[in-house]
Amino acid sequence: MSDKRDTGFSLATLRDQLSARIASVDFAPDLGSEIGSRRWFRGLGTFVGLSAAALAFWPSFAPLEAAPPAHVDDAVRSEYRSQMILPLALGADSGRRMGATSLVEPLAQAPERPRIELVATLSRGDDFERMLRRAGLGREDTQLVTDMVGRAMPLGEIEPGTRIDIVLGRRNGTGEPRPLEELAFRARFDLELSVGRLDEGGPLTLVRKPIRVDDTPLRIRGVVGDSLYRSARAAGAPASAVQAYLKTLGQHVNLDREIRSTDTFDFIIAHRRAATGERQAGQLLYAGVERGDKPRVQLMRWGTDGEFYEASGVGEQRGGLMAPVPGRMSSRYGMRRHPILGYRRMHAGLDYKARHGTPIVAVTDGRVLSAGRAGGCGNAVKLRHDGGIDTRYCHMSRMAVDRGQRVRRGQVIGYVGSTGLSTGPHLHYEMYRGGRSIDPASVKYVTRAQLSGAELARFKGALEKLRQVEAGAALAELAPTASETAAETPQREIDKVERKETLR
Ligand SMILES: [Zn+2]
Repeated sequence: MSDKRDTGFSLATLRDQLSARIASVDFAPDLGSEIGSRRWFRGLGTFVGLSAAALAFWPSFAPLEAAPPAHVDDAVRSEYRSQMILPLALGADSGRRMGATSLVEPLAQAPERPRIELVATLSRGDDFERMLRRAGLGREDTQLVTDMVGRAMPLGEIEPGTRIDIVLGRRNGTGEPRPLEELAFRARFDLELSVGRLDEGGPLTLVRKPIRVDDTPLRIRGVVGDSLYRSARAAGAPASAVQAYLKTLGQHVNLDREIRSTDTFDFIIAHRRAATGERQAGQLLYAGVERGDKPRVQLMRWGTDGEFYEASGVGEQRGGLMAPVPGRMSSRYGMRRHPILGYRRMHAGLDYKARHGTPIVAVTDGRVLSAGRAGGCGNAVKLRHDGGIDTRYCHMSRMAVDRGQRVRRGQVIGYVGSTGLSTGPHLHYEMYRGGRSIDPASVKYVTRAQLSGAELARFKGALEKLRQVEAGAALAELAPTASETAAETPQREIDKVERKETLR
């Protein structure tokens, strides 16, 4: 039986038992009756316990913290003084901004500054006229200034980033744009333009102020040392100039093996300095290396395409032959069994496997010697290049050039086909030197420009002149001329203080 009860234990029976037990407990006995009994003392205990719990939640009775009394010393007193409204004439001595009190009367309208000085910047892709409008110039003033500046120089030549100083005057009436008083900017490296009024209310006039510019190139020399780059930078060369020097030098000599730490590097870059102090470094003009006071490398920029030539007039090597078609070579130059004729004979060219219609390009610059049907070669184009080299391209499906035409390296001259004695679309490519067939794969075709005659003489003259530039001469300040010193007006202190707003 008891076993059955234990297994029949459940939440419902537990709940019933608990509620029956709680119902039998007397939580709040009357403390007025049965004083001293066990039930009375239990009631008293419950009362004291509940009261203690209630008191435990009582808020704190500690005193509230108030602001500590300020210690008024001289600094604080002067701070208070600034809140005081008292004219300077009546003894106010702080001159500081005063706090607004009830004595302050608000103005109906804030007075305008009589003039505004600002700096507007011409950003990239910006328009001179739009920039003026944005700076707050009226339509008429903008039109006038744009016309005047446009007559002095093409507006498109003003460099992005040019800062334009603008002074706007007092408005003639509310809502009207401020009239332009002055406008000045550096239009070019060697020219300053300003627009202003000669007398108040007079018409706007443009003043051109050319700036003296010296364009002595900058020559930088020094010992190579541990690092050519670091030594050149330490000698005062701009990073871009050192990079250009190393790049140019690297195209002519092996920098790792042929330059020694005891060598002297020597290069010249275009350089301009203005009388106003600005400097501009340009491109590399000359790159040289000396060993034991003897020039080892001398390269000078020459000609319209800016190539470098050695002192002897030899230009940069340009080079190599292009592959006539992209793709795999399927047959080399040499003896082989002919796929159609069936006997061993010389294969006097290279075969390239390529799809029908693949463009064929000239391997280097040349002239079309012939373009047409050529027996077993099918449709063929023959080109003549410098140095007695000819190339022939066979089995074309279509030709894209005519006889006598000049072609550039990489220009399409025809398309792959299978005309003539051919088993399938491919390019048969031949090369001749002096009329005799040679292996195209054995030729390293390089071209070198060579100056000659009058041009070589002019080149040598220019090189001689350039080499006479003194190292570092261009780094000195330009000495002002007498007229420039006189024109320099003393600047008022107040002009330095005035703040200029910058517009972007
Ligand atoms: Zn072939």
